[in-house]
Amino acid sequence: MAPPLPKAYEDDNIFAKILRGEIPCDKVYENDHALAFKDINPQAPTHVLVIPKGKYISFEDFSRNASDAEIAGFVRAAGEVARGAEGAVERGFRILANHGPEAHQEVHHFHLHIFAGRDTGPMISR
Ligand code: 5GP
Repeated sequence: MAPPLPKAYEDDNIFAKILRGEIPCDKVYENDHALAFKDINPQAPTHVLVIPKGKYISFEDFSRNASDAEIAGFVRAAGEVARGAEGAVERGFRILANHGPEAHQEVHHFHLHIFAGRDTGPMISR
């Protein structure tokens, strides 16, 4: 299982460092409220992470505390990424967010995974 979520946002998480430009990423898309980049350990031909630019630990934090503009910008960014993956709209893609230890959330900055380019299999392991 992944570690428990922190009580407060931690500025030293890896995605905070990417947002600050301290470590590189392979950028796919960016708008005022979100950044999308390729996962360093891709699980599908397309595996892109979409993160809000604001400091949100998890889906629960983001959905509770982000502004409407941040939420809209973030969802629009995810849509741009999905549309930008060749054939994904026609053939299919998966969007996934892990929240907390039982969902194996490893990075404590809210993110969506977008997978495309292959059959992504059953929805959840048994
Ligand atoms: P989680 O388990 O938190 O939902 O997913 C975290 C994801 O972040 C993993 O798929 C992992 O491969 C990815 N990741 C971890 N460190 C880095 C990094 O430094 N750069 C990029 N691009 N992805 C990372």
